[in-house]
Amino acid sequence: MGTRNLEITIIDGGAMIDEGPQWYYCLKHHKVEGQVGCKAKDRIGPFATQEEAEHALEKVQERNDAWKAQNGGE
Ligand SMILES: [Zn+2]
Repeated sequence: MGTRNLEITIIDGGAMIDEGPQWYYCLKHHKVEGQVGCKAKDRIGPFATQEEAEHALEKVQERNDAWKAQNGGE
């Protein structure tokens, strides 16, 4: 109890993940995009899978809704 089991992943050779496919959710076009696409500021990610990218948006929306609720809506 009270012990936090944090997993820290250390990637050898730098912080960039450049293996495998990368997926982003584009906030501009409201769709999942591959590695080539819109600018990073318009997208969330990267994610290892397309599905993950889609679910990431759901989480962002949930967070936004919670934020709105906390701040008395629009
Ligand atoms: Zn886009």
